[in-house]
Amino acid sequence: MKTDIVVNYDKCGDPRECKKCLQICAPALFLLYSTDDESDDPDVWRVDVAFTDLCTRCGDCVEVCPKEAITLV
Ligand code: SF4
Ligand code: SF4
Repeated sequence: MKTDIVVNYDKCGDPRECKKCLQICAPALFLLYSTDDESDDPDVWRVDVAFTDLCTRCGDCVEVCPKEAITLV
């Protein structure tokens, strides 16, 4: 079953400082990227989820996020 993992970027802040979702996800589905390669502005950095069909819906990313920024749909 395909799972949508929604990240609220207003809550996440600067994922370069946190990375907890990237570290906890066993199938390593989270990506860290910048929407503007030439900017160091924290607001342009994002975590997103690739290959959502591999998500096991374990909920670990939701639990580990200190900002309550992740929702499973
Ligand atoms: S629910 Fe589990 S498998 Fe799915 S993205 Fe979150 S940590 Fe990864
Ligand atoms: S765990 Fe939450 S706050 Fe930390 S990088 Fe992931 S989405 Fe952002």
